Amino acid sequence: MAVRKVLVVGGGITGTVAAIAMKQKGLDVTLVEASPVWHGVGHGITVQGNALRSFREIGALERMLPKAHAFTGLQLRHADGHLIATIQTPRTGGEDLPPTMGALRSDLQTVLVDMIHELGIEVRLGTEMTAFKNLDDGVRVTFREGTTEDYDLVVAADGINSRTRPMLGITHNKKPTGLGIWRVVARRTPDMDCAAVFHHGPQYKAGYTPISADLCYAYVLTDPQRPDNGLGAADEIKRLLAGYHGPFDSIRENITEADVMNFQPIEWLHVDDEPWHRGRVILIGDAVHACPPLIAQGAAQCCEDATLLAEYVTREGDIEALLQEYVARRKARVAGVVAASMQLADWELHPDQEGIDTAGLMADALQALTAPA
Ligand SMILES: Cc1cc2nc3c(=O)[nH]c(=O)nc-3n(C[C@H](O)[C@H](O)[C@H](O)COP(=O)(O)OP(=O)(O)OC[C@H]3O[C@@H](n4cnc5c(N)ncnc54)[C@H](O)[C@@H]3O)c2cc1C
Repeated sequence: MAVRKVLVVGGGITGTVAAIAMKQKGLDVTLVEASPVWHGVGHGITVQGNALRSFREIGALERMLPKAHAFTGLQLRHADGHLIATIQTPRTGGEDLPPTMGALRSDLQTVLVDMIHELGIEVRLGTEMTAFKNLDDGVRVTFREGTTEDYDLVVAADGINSRTRPMLGITHNKKPTGLGIWRVVARRTPDMDCAAVFHHGPQYKAGYTPISADLCYAYVLTDPQRPDNGLGAADEIKRLLAGYHGPFDSIRENITEADVMNFQPIEWLHVDDEPWHRGRVILIGDAVHACPPLIAQGAAQCCEDATLLAEYVTREGDIEALLQEYVARRKARVAGVVAASMQLADWELHPDQEGIDTAGLMADALQALTAPA
């Protein structure tokens, strides 16, 4: 094998899936996570089939499905509630997997963290890599505490705010998309059993995804700055959702301050014109590609990065050549996702332009991902 001893930096979805996949392939894996508390936030997430394929590959999917909600379609609705069309979501993970699954992020994280511990992966919380030096056949890593250790490979999965990225000399940084998003975990009725997106309302768009037998997460895309109107979170979401009806009437009426909710401006990042690695340090996941969640492919691309990297670095051969081939393959795949997501964001922001075909672009972008990763 090209490497044996690996350091994974970051314990989000990318880092945990990468650590599990590499450990299962026989590598000696250590994971460092900057946060001293390592449990996922309770927001909902829409996970497409290609992410489910990665979860199945590492044996996590069967543990996730019982708590989640799998479904096949996407409803397009008018803000007044009426159904415009139902689209069958392309099966990006293959014909034998659901096209989409809604879940609580914390439920996915719990499964992944449990697996990390069961596999005996060494985990160090509350620390980080502060420096590294590429050696002829490895990497010398310095940690926050001042200690140093040698590894064959460092996989940096430290997210959109990656501190490893500038350490590699990559000058790309995250940028605003011009959009903001409110999300809330809310009760759902049994008929809200697939994702729905509502157009032509007072905000850019709103929608929901079922995440369990009785919960969904609802969202509204709006301006990137929260207005200074003195409203608490629940009242602000209700104000923004006031123009959305049908299933949104019951979602809105049931929101309380006790619900899990948050607002954030949406940012993006795409390292497209230079390598993702220097020597034996490689960036994966949101650290090199983060796109607005308009086709719900962010985490799926992260999972594909993670499982494919485990496959490449356990091949025989020259590690530089393997990493180059891996990065080229991932860049080609990710480029289409970022381009489609940014086009959709542009159409939300500038709806008066000609040729807008949101449903068509979403379908095409997901259909393209039915090809192997
Ligand atoms: C509003 C919103 C909604 C989204 N919805 C969806 C969706 O529905 N479906 C979907 O597929 N994708 C979605 N995404 C995208 C998805 O959430 C991300 O692509 C994915 O979570 C990124 O995972 P990551 O592990 O690469 O990064 P992160 O989740 O950011 O994890 C990075 C980890 O590294 C740790 N860390 C940071 N710096 C260091 C350091 N120096 N040393 C050690 N550890 C460090 C952090 O604490 C963190 O735990 C959404 C994104 C946003 C913003």
